Amino acid sequence: MESATAHPDATHEVANQATPLLPYKVFEADTPLREAIEREGGEWGIERIRDIGRLAGSREALEHSERCERNEPVLRTHDRYGNRVDEIDLDPSWHWLMREAIERGIHSLPWADPRPGAHAVRAGLMFVWDQVNAGVMCPISMTHSVIPALREAPDLAEEWEPRLVSRDYERGAIAGMAMTEKQGGSDVRANTTRAEPQADGSYAITGHKWFCSYPPCDIFLTLAQAPEGLSCFLIEGRDPGFQVQRLKDKLGTRSLPSSEVEFRGVTGRLVGEAGRGVQTIIRMVNHTRLDCLIGSAAGMRAGTVQAIHHARHRSAFGRTLVDQPAMANVLADLAIESEAATATAMRIARAYDEDGAAFRRVATAVSKYWVCKRAPQHALEALECLGGNGYVEESGMPRLLRDSPLNSIWEGSGNVAALDVLRALGREPDCLPAFLAEVESGSGSDARLDAHVDALKERLGSLAVDGGDPQFDARRVVEDMGLALQGSLLVRHAPAVVADAFCASRLAREGGRVFGTLPAGSDARSVIDRAFSG
Ligand SMILES: Cc1cc2nc3c(=O)[nH]c(=O)nc-3n(C[C@H](O)[C@H](O)[C@H](O)COP(=O)(O)OP(=O)(O)OC[C@H]3O[C@@H](n4cnc5c(N)ncnc54)[C@H](O)[C@@H]3O)c2cc1C
Repeated sequence: MESATAHPDATHEVANQATPLLPYKVFEADTPLREAIEREGGEWGIERIRDIGRLAGSREALEHSERCERNEPVLRTHDRYGNRVDEIDLDPSWHWLMREAIERGIHSLPWADPRPGAHAVRAGLMFVWDQVNAGVMCPISMTHSVIPALREAPDLAEEWEPRLVSRDYERGAIAGMAMTEKQGGSDVRANTTRAEPQADGSYAITGHKWFCSYPPCDIFLTLAQAPEGLSCFLIEGRDPGFQVQRLKDKLGTRSLPSSEVEFRGVTGRLVGEAGRGVQTIIRMVNHTRLDCLIGSAAGMRAGTVQAIHHARHRSAFGRTLVDQPAMANVLADLAIESEAATATAMRIARAYDEDGAAFRRVATAVSKYWVCKRAPQHALEALECLGGNGYVEESGMPRLLRDSPLNSIWEGSGNVAALDVLRALGREPDCLPAFLAEVESGSGSDARLDAHVDALKERLGSLAVDGGDPQFDARRVVEDMGLALQGSLLVRHAPAVVADAFCASRLAREGGRVFGTLPAGSDARSVIDRAFSG
């Protein structure tokens, strides 16, 4: 094709625009991720992650992702003859993205191949594929997460698990979750959906759910009020009583159909003990919370890379942006946040490979709160690094920003996640010692971290005794816990330039309130080069 500059009527040459970051080896360019996976027991999966990383950074993957975002899902409630069908039309690119995820086992690896480190490997795979399309990771995450809850009903696990863990996209099964109702999402005790026992031992489920992502799922876990109290049930998506009211018109994850549904006497089979539905479904929710954390860390990684790439190719006022000191500060600050999030996600993923239930319990809630909260600010600042181009859809940055608040909202919105930490600390005496033991394994490396942990312990101690309502202080305490864990991980495992800038800006509070305010003396150049060598 003739270039614009060669044309006799050309008005200008296109200059000083960044080149597309394609193809790009998403995993190989990510030193913090590779180091974290090796450290957390996932070394044996590196080749798989490298492989999906090449695909993730291909033009093909990008085009599929953009296409299914553009061609949003459409609900068809009836066929041409007026029969109720409740089908969702999904773009073929959606299926391409799902198939690649499933054939690589992101939905099932630790259950199908429960080797030590399997959760870390799976987290690495998810981290990379999430950077292609966050919407697709919702059903992938739910299918992965349903297994521990389903195993509370061995007959149902026997029936469904082989299909749920299958890597065959056509023959396998996908799982979802339907808890949230109009009158209360966080407070599921307010659920009004009823479960009436039937003669054959099943239940007839009647009611509504205000959010139900991915109605094409084969099965869902749902909560309903049985005679014994709120209970967890397995229902099938193809049940004629399962009706989709409408799809949500959402801020982000627009490729993903999220819906409102009604249950008109749907057949439900009990999972776990009747009356203990929350305790059962929480086994699923713990894993989806981990995935929220992985997803937010992945989004930060994607934003960091795009920002650095742009700044290396764009000049203003006589220098490339990356060489402009104010921009170097922004990029390094974004990179530090991204590395801290990556290290946290991978450390906590490893906790799912090990016995340490107390650390897993509290660290998941702490970091689900903290890392997911940081993601939208991070995406916004990464977008701004691209200037006006960042505000334009083709850059991918608007989608990153739109998708970024979701992980903080679902599976326990900010306050709910923070309060969950207080609940864990109050009710489970092993949680705080397990958390502090992990954090304090970094003691003695950086005085600012040590001081932060001392202040945190004091704050945690006074929470219980000061007579005020500890909930008022929940976010502040949980933020400090999240920072303590990240600081500890970085002083132990990251290069000194990264750990030093983190401790100075986040723990000693020598930095400001927005990204790009690392204190003078921070080695921004080294931090940027480590973050993205491409
Ligand atoms: C895109 C998308 C997809 C979703 N998919 C699903 C799905 O597949 N299945 C499903 O079941 N749900 C799904 N949800 C629902 C989601 O999990 C809920 O929206 C979420 O749990 C919050 O519930 P709520 O909307 O009822 O808000 P509320 O519970 O009313 O909360 C509103 C606000 O109040 C705060 N709050 C609540 N309780 C307290 C308290 N005690 N103290 C202080 N603050 C409090 C919350 O943190 C929040 O900020 C989805 C939501 C979205 C946006």
